[in-house]
Parts: sequence; structure tokens; C-alpha cells
Amino acid sequence: MSTEKTEAIVIRQADFSESSRVVTFFSREFGKFATLAKGARRLKGPFDAALDLLSRCRIVFIRKSSGALGILTEASLVTRFRPDSADLVRIYGGYYVAELLHDLTEDFDAAPRLFDLAVETLDALCSSQPHPPSVLVIFEISLLREIGLLPELSECSACGEPALVGSDSSSGSRSFWITRSGLLCGACRREEYSGTAVSAGTVEILKKLSTADHSVISRLVLSAVQTSECHRFAASAIIGLTGRKPSTLRYLEF
Ligand SMILES: [Zn+2]
Repeated sequence: MSTEKTEAIVIRQADFSESSRVVTFFSREFGKFATLAKGARRLKGPFDAALDLLSRCRIVFIRKSSGALGILTEASLVTRFRPDSADLVRIYGGYYVAELLHDLTEDFDAAPRLFDLAVETLDALCSSQPHPPSVLVIFEISLLREIGLLPELSECSACGEPALVGSDSSSGSRSFWITRSGLLCGACRREEYSGTAVSAGTVEILKKLSTADHSVISRLVLSAVQTSECHRFAASAIIGLTGRKPSTLRYLEF
């Protein structure tokens, strides 16, 4: 048993008893973990409003060595997730970020860069930054990269043929197809395979996103078509990893 302090985002809540909740956090130092927040359901509970979904807060908790549920002892609000309430894409976009962090990360697997990415993404959704779907797509790809499960982008996942794009005059129209394990070249795409195509331009964008070079990524401007194609690539990989479509996706359009 040890007492730990960290900054964390609330990514899930579930009622536990008449007065308590189980709150799952994603933190800079400890990655994802769940704690019991005693009294959190009371009107004037010990944590005030710090535990709303997607709030960022500074917390103190007792970590159990046995892997049992920890106990939350303190929580103070840093920022609330408050996008424009009329913009459902931004609201559900935040829920989608929480769902992906919950479903694709392991307990107590520290991921400070992923924490910073999540904070940046939630801040961008709360700002007036245009086109929230492209903000979410950049988060999807970056999350897959940070957990080390971004599918290969440099070659066909079936034959290993290098996915060279932009190297000759005919390549502009050359397309690749998406599978759960990555890209498929035109030659390997079987007629019965009903996968969706991605353009060479989108493969270039995916490659830039795979580098984790913040100065490159922050300058990227994705067209609506590129956003949609990048999302299909990410969603296909995510479904391949979790075995199901994230439930928040039904409220989002890319
Ligand atoms: Zn191939």
C-alpha cells in the first residue's frame, strides 16, 4: 500500500453504492487505473465537482499492492471539459477520447506522452479550433502509435511490397486498401475483399502522423476526404484490437 499523487483525467465513472463511485482515471505517471471514491455520490461530497467525466484534476490515492481497487483520498479540479454545448461532435468527441483511453491502455502502464496528447485533444475540442473530426483522427492515430500498435505503413501487409507513394508520375492515383493488420496493395486486393480504399495522399499523412514529430503534426491540415480515410484506417485497427466497434462512434461522423 502506498499513497500516490498525480494529475489525471476522469475517463469513466460507475456507481458503486448509495454514496460511492468507482472512478477510472488516465494519469501522466500511472496510466489508467480505477479507484473507489467514497462519498462521491453525496451532494456535498468530499470531492466537490472534480470528478465529472473528462475533468482534469490533481488527485491523491492509496494504491493497493495486490492489484485491488485503490482508494481516492483527494481530488481538486484543474480544468473541466466544457466544449460548446451546441456542438455534439465536440461533446461526443470527448467521450470517444475517454473510451479509447479506457479500452486500449493497460492498468498502471505509464504513458506521459499519451496523457499530454489527450489533454491537448480535449483542449482543442473545447476551443474554437475548426473541424473537430480531424482533431479526433490525429488522436486516434497518435494513440495507436503511442501504444505501439499502429499498423505498418511502409509496405503491403500481405506481400511486403513497399508502399511507395509519390515516387513516380502514376502514383498520384495509386490506391491502397485497408485491412485490420494494415495496408494492402492493389495486386493483393482480392476481388471479394470489400475493404475501403485510401489514396496515396492519405498514406503520406498517416506516415507523418506515425513519426510523433510534433512540429510536423501540428502543421498538418487534413481535408475532409483525408480525415475520413485516416479515420477508416484507425477504426479498422482499433476494431481489430478490441474486437468491437467503439460505442461512441455511432454518434460521430468523420
Ligand atoms: Zn501486396
